[in-house]
Amino acid sequence: MARVEIVEVSKRYKSVLAVNNVSLDVRDQEFLVLLGPSGCGKSTLLKMVAGLEEITSGEVYIDDRLVNYVAPKDRDVAMVFQNYALYPHMTVFDNLSFPLRMAGEKKDIIKSKVAEVARILGLDGLLDRRPEQLSGGQRQRVALGRAIIRQPKVYLMDEPLSNLDALLRVQTREELLRLHKRVGGTVIYVTHDQVEAMTMGDRIVVMRDGIVHQVGEPQAVYNQPANTFVATFIGSPAMSLFDGQLQSEHGTLVFAATGFCIPLPGRLRQAALALLGGDRRVTLGVRNEHVQLFSVPEPAAIEARTLLIEPVGSDMYVRLAIGDQECLARTEPRSDLQEGAPVWVRFMLDKLHLFDAAGRNVLAPAATTPAPTSTAAVLA
Ligand code: ADP
Ligand code: MG
Repeated sequence: MARVEIVEVSKRYKSVLAVNNVSLDVRDQEFLVLLGPSGCGKSTLLKMVAGLEEITSGEVYIDDRLVNYVAPKDRDVAMVFQNYALYPHMTVFDNLSFPLRMAGEKKDIIKSKVAEVARILGLDGLLDRRPEQLSGGQRQRVALGRAIIRQPKVYLMDEPLSNLDALLRVQTREELLRLHKRVGGTVIYVTHDQVEAMTMGDRIVVMRDGIVHQVGEPQAVYNQPANTFVATFIGSPAMSLFDGQLQSEHGTLVFAATGFCIPLPGRLRQAALALLGGDRRVTLGVRNEHVQLFSVPEPAAIEARTLLIEPVGSDMYVRLAIGDQECLARTEPRSDLQEGAPVWVRFMLDKLHLFDAAGRNVLAPAATTPAPTSTAAVLA
């Protein structure tokens, strides 16, 4: 059993508020991913759970035990860093078995556990080597192995795969997940890579500037992003955003931008109506898979211009100019579209996202949703 509760935790370094009043409830056996751009406070938060960084305010509990003042070694956590220093004079076997030897395990148990971890991480043939005789990827797998061998209550992993090359990263990602299914344990995993977060996390915590912007299952965060920051950070390529305003035309509620106009689906109507009395400036969001393209005029399709066509094998990405704004569409490979030519666009209306003037999803519960602070950064 291992639940981790983070209660209103903040960390201040002189003038920098690295972590700003974060509360999280990490469930027993959960694989929780902290996701956000560089500098958003992920590592700082993780280090406070590990005990490697003092907590400025707030509390951390592991299984209902307040650990703010408990030494790292007494928290029953194991941490894996991006650059984990192995003992250079020890073989891989000795590096892997180190935590077990420290715990006074018996020799035969050590041998079988090292063998198992080595097999899981593809280190079988390397047990007699020293770290200097390993590639970067192999070293990182030894570091992972050393963390998992002891089976602590909580694993804290700080971008453990980011030094591996692309293929090895995908392989190790799968191994880690399989391993987690098998041996269990509660994992808090830090990454700035949204694909890693989407594929690995039971839930994702999206952070920016020390603040938690959204917590949820990957698909829920993808389908219902809390604000424009989350909307554009999760999903690759990013969601397209259009600036415009709400208007009521002949009793129909529309999103109006320079050069085009879109009727709002019923799903958004109530929230949009509430905005009509106040700030009508809104942002419309559409994911590339929800844009349909036609090479000839179609009913209810907007005329646009094809700027760029990018074939990626299975799909084709098409960058479009609609009015004075741009948008990305994805289609199956096809030959009837041409760069520079007109194209007709239809959005899947029931998939549209609408954000208010502060960037908040109009369908998100207001109390729990921070507004993205800087639109410039959001759109960059
Ligand atoms: P992330 O892991 O998300 O990239 P960090 O937690 O490392 O972010 O850093 C969060 C913020 O705190 C950054 O602005 C960083 O510059 C600052 N910071 C981190 N560690 C220190 C430190 N030891 N002293 C001063 N500022 C720090
Ligand atoms: Mg970091």
